[in-house]
Amino acid sequence: MKAIKITTAEGKSLTAGLEDAYWISVEYRIFPKKNIAEYNVHAVVLRPKSKEIYHEWTPSEPNSQNLKLEMIDTDSVDLPLRNRPSTHRWNSEDELEPFCSFCGRFPSQVNNLIAGYTGHICDECIQICSDTLAEIKNDGA
Ligand SMILES: [Zn+2]
Repeated sequence: MKAIKITTAEGKSLTAGLEDAYWISVEYRIFPKKNIAEYNVHAVVLRPKSKEIYHEWTPSEPNSQNLKLEMIDTDSVDLPLRNRPSTHRWNSEDELEPFCSFCGRFPSQVNNLIAGYTGHICDECIQICSDTLAEIKNDGA
């Protein structure tokens, strides 16, 4: 099948199939302070009598100055994000690490990180949520 392929200078690559895609987009986000980057290939596929199926890949890795984008022939494309752990991200050491789903910080940046089924929350975000609930309760009284 025809697919869009992105390859970084480090040789990592992502592919998204074109065959039944409604549209495909490529997004590249750079975080200069951490010198990391995230890039996505989105392929939105329209199935008969069903909602849009959203395929998304979101790794994070050291910022790459060179990014190659090409159209290729391939037998398979990368799996959708829902089949990958969304509770972890690539840190600046190029390791998959859990992060707070609310503020995005890694364990080394918080005191505690509590795991849930599809995400994590840190102690500071719990405190903000607790304070917010208290405010709501007080406003309603
Ligand atoms: Zn947090």
